Amino acid sequence: MNLLATHGPWIAAALITGLVIAFLMTKAIHRAGKRKKADAHELEKRAYVRGVNYILENDHDAAIEELTKVVQINSETVEIYFALGNLFRRKGEIDRAIRIHQNIILRPGLDEKTQMQAYFNLAMDYKKAGFVKRAVATFEEVLSKDRNNRDVMSELAELYEEIKDWEQAFSIRQRLAKAGGHKEDNVLAHLQAELGRQKMKENALSSAKKCFKKALSIDPACIDAMLSMGELHLDEGDVRAAIAAWTRIMRVAPQFANLVFSRLEQAYERLGRSETLEKTLREVLVKHDKDPNAHFILGRYLYKKGDPVGAIAELRKAVELNPTSLEARKSLGTALLAENRINEALDEYRSLLDRLDQGRKTYQCAKCGLETNEMLWKCPQCRSWDTIRAVAPPEPRPLSNSEETANNTKMAKSEDASTFA
Ligand SMILES: [Zn+2]
Repeated sequence: MNLLATHGPWIAAALITGLVIAFLMTKAIHRAGKRKKADAHELEKRAYVRGVNYILENDHDAAIEELTKVVQINSETVEIYFALGNLFRRKGEIDRAIRIHQNIILRPGLDEKTQMQAYFNLAMDYKKAGFVKRAVATFEEVLSKDRNNRDVMSELAELYEEIKDWEQAFSIRQRLAKAGGHKEDNVLAHLQAELGRQKMKENALSSAKKCFKKALSIDPACIDAMLSMGELHLDEGDVRAAIAAWTRIMRVAPQFANLVFSRLEQAYERLGRSETLEKTLREVLVKHDKDPNAHFILGRYLYKKGDPVGAIAELRKAVELNPTSLEARKSLGTALLAENRINEALDEYRSLLDRLDQGRKTYQCAKCGLETNEMLWKCPQCRSWDTIRAVAPPEPRPLSNSEETANNTKMAKSEDASTFA
């Protein structure tokens, strides 16, 4: 008591001083914290800007480095994690991309939109890694919550086509069209044609026929379905119906006539009415005299019929119109040999050997340039439908003097070689 009475004013003064010091210190700390926070924010902002610039410059490594700095300063920003995940996917570091997207999904309190975005990205990771089934399941999950998401539908359509689930591919493309996506009847018809061929393999011919009919009702110009419908008739033993289906192609889409010539050749042979093939081909040639394939098939037929002279004339035309057709040159050589025109036959075989290494493909994708020897309705490279076209044969040109000399030298050399062999 005494102590307080004696030292009271001092103690009070000390307490007040203490409080003032504490107050001042707290303020100083707070200010320092604020400054530190401001500095961190500044660093974060700069790293973010640099990261975005690197993304724009396509420098993925530098972008990842900068954006990693951002999340080290502020781990709350989900957008940066999305950017990082996508950068890792683009770089092919799928494991890391998957981990990032899975972590986003596990975040507590995440709103549904962001969660769906994370699932979508996860599915893209699976797709890139080639885990098609997992990608499909994840996209389906997103679609079950976000029923009109066109991006998801496009991805799913692509994947179902990849795994040849034509039924699902068809229904998702229909949904996509209903949801306001581009309605592509030609693609829908192709999918029905694919489904039909699958049924044919399973020997379910009547289901297959329904598919081809459906394809043609969706897109009456679907050559894919018309060709297969012909095959189906042939399988059923109805050769005449097959011929009718294929002949229709020549009428409605003469640019695809080359796809039916050899089919018609077989069908007429089965009917024992090969002369009708000759008539059909001659009719085609009246309108399209520059069709090397029609000349080729006609030449081959005339040769079989025992008319080598007629065959040689047609095959020469075929070779003239398409000098790169090895098949036509080979048949021409054979016909010339049969006629005992040995030197001419040798010339043909020599040209054939000269062209063997040129490897010119018959078809090319108009979108990505892929070359192929087979007519495909969907490009395996850019995955577009109906972009593959027949490559126009090169313009026939006469040999230049130097080429002639080179050929003669080559001939002389090969003769030398045979002499020494
Ligand atoms: Zn392509």
